[in-house]
Amino acid sequence: MSITVDSDLNAVSLTPTPVAPTKADDRLPSYMEHQVQRAGLASIYDKVLAGERLSHADGVALYDTRELNLVGAMANIVRERKNGDLTYFNRNLHINYTNICNKQCLFCAFDRLPGEEGGYVMYEDEITERFARFDGHEIHEVHMVAGIHPRLPFEYYTNLLRHVKKIRPNIHIKAFTMIELAQMQRLSKLSLEETIYALKEAGLDSCPGGGCEVLSDRVHKELFRLKLKPEQWLETQRTVHKCGLKSNATLLYGHIETMDERVTHFERLRELQDETGGFQTFIPLAFHPDNTEISHLPPTTGFDDLKNIAVGRLMLDNFPHIKGYWTMISPRLAQVSLSYGSDDMDGTILEEKITHEAGALTPQEITLDYFVHLIKEAGRIPVERDTIYNEIQRF
Ligand code: SF4
Repeated sequence: MSITVDSDLNAVSLTPTPVAPTKADDRLPSYMEHQVQRAGLASIYDKVLAGERLSHADGVALYDTRELNLVGAMANIVRERKNGDLTYFNRNLHINYTNICNKQCLFCAFDRLPGEEGGYVMYEDEITERFARFDGHEIHEVHMVAGIHPRLPFEYYTNLLRHVKKIRPNIHIKAFTMIELAQMQRLSKLSLEETIYALKEAGLDSCPGGGCEVLSDRVHKELFRLKLKPEQWLETQRTVHKCGLKSNATLLYGHIETMDERVTHFERLRELQDETGGFQTFIPLAFHPDNTEISHLPPTTGFDDLKNIAVGRLMLDNFPHIKGYWTMISPRLAQVSLSYGSDDMDGTILEEKITHEAGALTPQEITLDYFVHLIKEAGRIPVERDTIYNEIQRF
């Protein structure tokens, strides 16, 4: 275990000593090894034991099999090698500063067109008021994402960042998806690098992972054709990492994408991570159909939610963390996912709008005590972290 002290954050960073990947430690019980053989997953299991990269065909085979528990058990091997029993969460606040958007993604229930009833923009007073509601609460991160408002000037965004830092000087601002950054670059008339540096100077600390949906030209054309194309999304991420900001990556699953497209999505993320090392966490996002243009589609299932976490853990061998995002899949399933490859449960989240507009029945917030209970009951070690995985406290 290596220990460092971050004087800015007064946080102790504990880098877990990787659990030695010895075959004796990692092997599944013999009855499960027989099941792996019978399920035709032996060659994938051998690669997992040897720490070898899985191929596209392996990824498709993992999605094809009905043997969810075997896939989960293999993902758990990788999870424990990378993070042992440590399970991370943070205390965070979500601010969706505007729901006005001109991109018209068919899976979105959050957006309002300019001029449409129910549209809003949060200015300094509303931001102050939002934080005032949580006076006395410890919050280490604010997560800010929103719609693409066609008429807000670039200064709106730099002022927003500065205002948040004025209210909470030590908070980590994780903000702006790649399409928001692209919009800001258009407004700033600077290069993308210069735009990102201007945002950093105003207080931006890292970027979230939302907005890439599925890295597939076909799905892009059908569901979110006004947003960045997959290549443009990857290029913007590349620049974010080059400018020294960490970020995450998501996959919006459970709508029209094929399993083959999900696997290609993983491969494209994995390639970029090989190049930049800038991704921290993969976050599968379950599609919620209510109030969207594709509301005829069924919601995702527990089987698919767990499968996606497990396959993500196995394919994204160079991602340090995988999240079981409780807002999307419920705290209960996120707890179970800790044995299917995930090692992070996101945060306490004070007020989430985007998924709840699309019919999420999960609560808007869960308490620290409940988080700790969920994680301990699953046999893991709860670790409160900051956004970049410095340890704040262990329970
Ligand atoms: S997903 Fe984002 S970009 Fe697309 S319509 Fe909704 S708010 Fe706009």
